[in-house]
Amino acid sequence: MGVDVSIGGLGVAGATLAYLLASKGFKVRAYDVAKGYHKACGDAVTVRPQTLEIARQTGSIVTAIRRFVIAVNGNVVHDFELSPPPWIIVDKARMVSRLREMASELGAEIIHGSWVRGREPIWVDARGPYSRSAKNAIFLYRVYTTSRWSGDTVMLDFNVEERGVYWIFPVDTDGRMVNIGAGFEGVNSAVEVERRLEKYHKRVVGEPLETIDRRGALMQLFNDVTLYKDGSFRVGEAAGLLLRTGGEGNRPAILSAAALARSLSDAGVEDSTRISSLYRRRILGLVDEVLVSRILLALVRGSSIRVASDLLASLPREFWIRFVRAEVKSHYLARLLISNYGLGVGVVRALLSYLSSRGHRLGS
Ligand SMILES: Cc1cc2nc3c(=O)[nH]c(=O)nc-3n(C[C@H](O)[C@H](O)[C@H](O)COP(=O)(O)OP(=O)(O)OC[C@H]3O[C@@H](n4cnc5c(N)ncnc54)[C@H](O)[C@@H]3O)c2cc1C
Repeated sequence: MGVDVSIGGLGVAGATLAYLLASKGFKVRAYDVAKGYHKACGDAVTVRPQTLEIARQTGSIVTAIRRFVIAVNGNVVHDFELSPPPWIIVDKARMVSRLREMASELGAEIIHGSWVRGREPIWVDARGPYSRSAKNAIFLYRVYTTSRWSGDTVMLDFNVEERGVYWIFPVDTDGRMVNIGAGFEGVNSAVEVERRLEKYHKRVVGEPLETIDRRGALMQLFNDVTLYKDGSFRVGEAAGLLLRTGGEGNRPAILSAAALARSLSDAGVEDSTRISSLYRRRILGLVDEVLVSRILLALVRGSSIRVASDLLASLPREFWIRFVRAEVKSHYLARLLISNYGLGVGVVRALLSYLSSRGHRLGS
């Protein structure tokens, strides 16, 4: 029998899609250039019924996050606890490997090699950041180190002065090991990022960095959302479904894969227009979140260090609670802007500059 769907890339999105489609009876052929999955990540996943289900089915939950420490330029601006925990930390390599195995057990053909599009009626690009040019991507780097942290706490530091972000996430339930990482616009050297991480860990935790494992990867922060291109549907980071402010890509990868799987199941593989419209409709909320995150990123990048730092530091606690729960949508942003004049002016300025740069690009 012929293959229904060809998937390029078996990371979070591709492996979830391969598994879900195989479990719905589709004939799937899926490729990945890497045999195992070892991508650098913070390994944090925002809790939603579907993300929790995938994490549970793959036995990959490491710990749950309740406490969030939010900093701007190294200064803590909010420190709060939430219940139920809105994040889990997963063993992402295990999650992706199990999804690949589960897909294979259900009959999916898993091929180790570069994606080749054949005569399959449906092609899906799930190559993550590698589906676009690396030219404009941001280099993120993380280190596993022994530490004195807490298994339910994360720290996120939006460092406008260094044009980047630091994070400290636990890797176990007692915080003896952490995933400390960072990415800075224009800094592509692992040595330089590790030097900054050493300083950061010493300052925040009071301990030297004892590197157990180090790894870097690219992230596509500046691309448009593209759900279908050149005959292929796109899921996950390949579709531009990444929250630009915090770099959250795991939940969007799982949710977009689940949405496309359902759309294929409802529409069949012959009618691309119907699949497209169902897929688009099902991830409207996610696309809205991504657009809002793009506006906020444009706002921070388009402002001076002082203005951007002041704006971030002045965001209310409710914003950060929504941020970690992944509930910053356009209606909330509109409400926030109406009630905060300074922020409103800043966003309008950033929007105007973004639209005018787009106008130049379109006109050229
Ligand atoms: C350092 C770092 C920390 C991060 N931390 C977090 C976090 O804590 N929480 C969060 O939600 N997100 C985080 N992200 C983002 C998240 O990792 C990605 O957005 C997410 O992995 C996207 O999933 P994906 O399946 O779209 O792509 P990926 O997981 O990148 O998978 C793409 C797959 O495609 C394969 N591939 C590439 N080219 C080809 C080809 N030509 N043929 C076949 N296969 C190919 C790759 O080998 C890979 O397996 C982080 C990213 C980085 C770099």
